[in-house]
Amino acid sequence: MQETTALTHHDDDNPMHTAERDVVALGIAAAAILLLVATGGAVVPGAVLSLFGEGEAPDRLLASALLLNIALIIFGWRRYRELTHEIAERRRAEDHARLLAATDPLTHCLNRRAMIEATERLRARAAMQGEALAYCMIDLDNFKQINDMYGHACGDAVLVALCDRMRALLPREARLARLGGDEFAFVMPYDVGQQDRVDDLVIRLFASIAEPFAERDVTVELSVSIGLATDHDAEGEPAPADAPTLMHRADMALYHAKKQGRNRHFWFEASMENELRFRNQLETGIRRGLAAGEFVPYYEQQIDIDTGELVGFEMLARWQSEQLGLVSPEIFIPVAEEMGLIAPLSEQLMDRAFADAREWDDRLTLSINISPVQLRDPWFAQQLLKKLVAAGFPPQRLEIEITESCLHENIGMVRTQITSLRNQGVKVSLDDFGTGYASLEQLRNLPFDRLKIDRSFITELREPAGRMRLVDAIISLGRGLDLPLTAEGVENEEILAALREMGCLKAQGYVYGMPETAEEVRQRLAACGRLGVAPRATGGPRHLGDDRAQAAAS
Ligand code: C2E
Ligand code: CA
Ligand code: CA
Repeated sequence: MQETTALTHHDDDNPMHTAERDVVALGIAAAAILLLVATGGAVVPGAVLSLFGEGEAPDRLLASALLLNIALIIFGWRRYRELTHEIAERRRAEDHARLLAATDPLTHCLNRRAMIEATERLRARAAMQGEALAYCMIDLDNFKQINDMYGHACGDAVLVALCDRMRALLPREARLARLGGDEFAFVMPYDVGQQDRVDDLVIRLFASIAEPFAERDVTVELSVSIGLATDHDAEGEPAPADAPTLMHRADMALYHAKKQGRNRHFWFEASMENELRFRNQLETGIRRGLAAGEFVPYYEQQIDIDTGELVGFEMLARWQSEQLGLVSPEIFIPVAEEMGLIAPLSEQLMDRAFADAREWDDRLTLSINISPVQLRDPWFAQQLLKKLVAAGFPPQRLEIEITESCLHENIGMVRTQITSLRNQGVKVSLDDFGTGYASLEQLRNLPFDRLKIDRSFITELREPAGRMRLVDAIISLGRGLDLPLTAEGVENEEILAALREMGCLKAQGYVYGMPETAEEVRQRLAACGRLGVAPRATGGPRHLGDDRAQAAAS
């Protein structure tokens, strides 16, 4: 039923039908005019004469035909006028619809689909005129924060203003498009060998965008990353590429620019393709590795510097990848964070680490690193505590390490999470202290249990005139705040001696050996009689629970 209506409607709209009717109306009018000329010639003079009483009245039939003729001409003409008007209206509506389909309603830039067509057209024209073509992808670095902080209406206003600024700088032949929420692109021809002109334009774009935007009573600052691709190489030789290829290459260059720290631009190079391929390989690998349990905990000793006693271990993640071998967390953690997989990855590692650490002497602590992404989840603390209960691991033995970058996210939520963990006995340390943004105010107000001095400061103690005073100052700061300290990255005896003089409390680093597997730790502890006799009281309930769960499952 609906289909028929849609069909009729469509039929009615068909310009071909309108045109046909148009032609018929015009034909009728033309035939009527011809008839008028033929019959009018014979009838009109007779009629005029009879009107003045000179001659016979014209034949009635002929006179009627004449009148009918005139009526037909009027009808035909009116119909013709109506139809041309209708067609003009329709054409306008079609143009409007086409415009809507091709542009982004907010900024009136082209949309993604129209951009492909526009690029192909410009490409053909540039090729004919012996010009080169540059395709430029622009991505806003911080748009999400603006939306979150000031609302979508403000975000929209900023986007519109941004487009105005870009349009003002682009050459007339350029085409500007909005490809997605905060992703833009433009394509423009340029003279072969003058790629630096495009660079100049991009630099002016950066400068213009860097000016603050004052929209809806707020002032916001934007930064963008830019990736470029061209169909000519640096020497000006043609390197033909169709629109989708150019777009893809500019995208890869943009990705590279983001990775290099944002707010910069790069031209596509072939090596970027490998970079992206590696990244894709990592992503699939991480997904597969997570399912196959390839992520394993390694442990680094933490030593009391005064007594030389082993006090605990920091768990450090490793990926035993089938294809890539042993992969460092510095490679896979950031990717897992971006993929949204850091929480399940971390949980898998914690499960193993709690099981491992339950077998150790129960005075030994376990430190685990928590990503800022995990802290964004309001249920993080609850879930961690639940996990501890399920694993039968005493919260007093657990220490979590968070980095300073957590502190400039949502400080209120971070405080809530830290507080609820501490209420249950979990300790919280501030990792990599000195490299980030923690203010004295935050240090005073956030309930940390410990500061870990970043290893970049500690390594510099190697040189006699190194940053001794800086480390000294950090230690005094910790003392002033009443916070115990750990020095990480202690690589040799000289550093250890220097730290001992400063009275640092805990230390960890290669001087005590490389991070070890669970089995190596077991052997180390067994050798010094610090392997707990399993299962201990805390472990008991879990085994019972396990048995019950197993029984229920079978
Ligand atoms: P981090 O928390 O600062 O961990 C210390 C890093 O320094 C470890 O690198 C460790 O192997 C290394 N290290 C230890 N002693 C020395 C030394 O004497 N000299 C030098 N040069 N380096 C030393 P690793 O294991 O590659 O971990 C790197 C980072 O990855 C860690 O830095 C931590 O931020 C992150 N990470 C590791 N495991 C996890 C995890 O399970 N979750 C999260 N979110 N991050 C993790
Ligand atoms: Ca750490
Ligand atoms: Ca650290």
